[in-house]
Amino acid sequence: MPQQLLDAGSPEALLTRAMVHFGHAEHAAARELAVMAAASGDQNLRARALTLLVRCHQMLDEQVEALALARDALEVCWAIGDTASEAIVHATVARILLITSDPVSAMAEIMTALEVAEGSGDLTARMTATATAGTVYYYLEQLDHCFEFCERAAEMARMLGDEVTNGAMIDTMACANMSLAEQARAAGDETAALALSGIAQGQSREAVEVARRNGHRRYEVTALGNLAESLAFCGRTEEALELLDGWTQDPAQDAPSIVTHMLATHGAICLSGGRYAEAIGHLRAALAAAESKASEMTAAELLADAYERNGDLRGALDTYKIFHSLSKTVASEAAQRSGHIAVVRMETAQAKAAAEQERARVTALQHANQELLRQSLEDPLTGLANRRHLDELMAGGLSGHAILLVDVDHFKRVNDEHSHLVGDQVLRQLAVLLRDACRDDDTVVRFGGEEFAVLLSETDLATAASVAERLRARVAAFDWTSIAAGLAVTASAGLALGDESGDPSVVLARADERLYAAKHAGRNRVHSPSSPAEQPLEPVLHYPGAQLEV
Ligand code: GH3
Ligand code: MG
Ligand code: MG
Repeated sequence: MPQQLLDAGSPEALLTRAMVHFGHAEHAAARELAVMAAASGDQNLRARALTLLVRCHQMLDEQVEALALARDALEVCWAIGDTASEAIVHATVARILLITSDPVSAMAEIMTALEVAEGSGDLTARMTATATAGTVYYYLEQLDHCFEFCERAAEMARMLGDEVTNGAMIDTMACANMSLAEQARAAGDETAALALSGIAQGQSREAVEVARRNGHRRYEVTALGNLAESLAFCGRTEEALELLDGWTQDPAQDAPSIVTHMLATHGAICLSGGRYAEAIGHLRAALAAAESKASEMTAAELLADAYERNGDLRGALDTYKIFHSLSKTVASEAAQRSGHIAVVRMETAQAKAAAEQERARVTALQHANQELLRQSLEDPLTGLANRRHLDELMAGGLSGHAILLVDVDHFKRVNDEHSHLVGDQVLRQLAVLLRDACRDDDTVVRFGGEEFAVLLSETDLATAASVAERLRARVAAFDWTSIAAGLAVTASAGLALGDESGDPSVVLARADERLYAAKHAGRNRVHSPSSPAEQPLEPVLHYPGAQLEV
């Protein structure tokens, strides 16, 4: 189990727990944990926590808070390029716009969600956007599209093992089938109407089962209401009312919108079954419980109808006036919100562009830094690591490793007799020869001028000595006339083992002494700790101008 899950108080653990609650429709509990997780300094985690928080607020009928936080969530998502969370936020905003009677803005929002989700390649994000698109199309009564998106979302949900979303999609398709059934009845095709409502009943029953099995009360209640409606549609009012009577609202678990919806459904079914007094009771309760002007409006319209059918014309007129005033308010609020949302969409598009620009700038800066770092550790002539890089490697200690210093013999003559250009080519060729002659784990360094160092990792004396000899032989055997006519190049080398001293600079000095000995002994040879010439030598000016101590 990952550490963060063991550490129950870590932001990652909080978020994981919040998501589990969310999956079980425990939105208030999920919200509390998501708030804590969103306080994390880790922007990746913050993006996901804010996204979940937006969804919790939306489910808890806190649409204003949800919209405000959606903006924050999007900004974090853009800053770090978390397109999966971004898509989920857009889908949630689309849901809010639907609830607040603005299906046209919801459509624009869900298009953005789908596009971003596709781009993210994240299956959960794609499923969430696709599922919401199915719902948006249902509200827009574009039922062909609704079925298409619901089927696709259900398929993705099954791929992800997300039974809850699969169930929600089946229920949305049940609603779409009920819309078709109503259309068929209006067109006088009662056979088709009953067949379609039969399909819807089967789907809603399945949705109830799936939600119940997964402990998702909200979806269970919604599917139950839909099932009751489709039963009532084909005259099975008693069964429908039995189902609804079996449900008891629980203010601790049921969001106000769900309570209102169920009361209104109950009222509508009583109304269609001729039970006007009961309908009035449920619809008045729905009107009182309504969490938004839009659900108040729905309840008021049904209630006015119930009063009228019950013969209470005064009550019907009064309630109709309430409905009329509410419908004007809802329409003007929706229009205002549309305008507001249009501005927010424009602003967010600008903010997104700015965030993308900033991200590109940071990435470019990081690349530039990496390039600088690479350059600072690399020799431009040969592309080998440079002395600074070797120093960094040696700082870790040389124990178990070996170091070989290689110096071109009489390189001055190459420059003098050919040219510096040829000299440069020789150095480049040497770099290739040295690189090719050792393992990937070894590091070849241009130590300076015509001197190279090879750091042989995990090497004992015998192996290091044979590698050194192989290097020397390859240099000597190379056809240097391919670079300049009459050119011949050899090199001398000094080998030291990392274990000769705990101090890497002492090891390096040993290698240098042996290189000097190899030069002294006639060049084109390697001196190692086992070479015979470990004795004081005549001073030879190995480095021009340098005073050598013997
Ligand atoms: P020895 O066998 O004793 O090493 O003799 P040497 O001539 O190789 O040694 P010395 O140190 O006297 O000369 C090294 C020469 O390498 C001097 C310098 O001009 C040349 N050199 C150093 N760096 C470069 C370079 O990048 N390109 C070229 N073409 N020559 C370089
Ligand atoms: Mg030399
Ligand atoms: Mg030299």
